[in-house]
Amino acid sequence: MGILENVRDLAELVKKTGDIEFYRKIVALEGEVIELTRQNRLLETKVAELDQKLTVQASLSFEAPFWWQEGDDTPFCPSCWELKRQAIHVVYKFSNAEFTRWDCSVCKTIYAPKLGKARKPPDPTRPNRNTVPRGGAWT
Ligand SMILES: [Zn+2]
Repeated sequence: MGILENVRDLAELVKKTGDIEFYRKIVALEGEVIELTRQNRLLETKVAELDQKLTVQASLSFEAPFWWQEGDDTPFCPSCWELKRQAIHVVYKFSNAEFTRWDCSVCKTIYAPKLGKARKPPDPTRPNRNTVPRGGAWT
């Protein structure tokens, strides 16, 4: 039996005694328990989110201009990661003789690091295990 059920049972018992002031106190306590339970759920969700972010943070390393995760050929947007701690993959667009272009679909930043200054882009013929294919399903 949870704390809320215990308080509700107590309220029913107090109600039977006919002590209105005592009953009002128990009903107020029930409201406080409900609010604390709600706040506890929110905090548990927040802790889980922060735990996830810490796990991602520990797995990332910076190699200008991007953040990279070991075993992942697609870098993460430095703007999204450093401002909001959101690990957002940038999207490879093309390479030419001077630079490679990557775009962030979330913050819309366009990156064009000069060749030789940044890691080689992924082979477009090789599927990236961290990218959902166009059909929306993992293969
Ligand atoms: Zn971004």
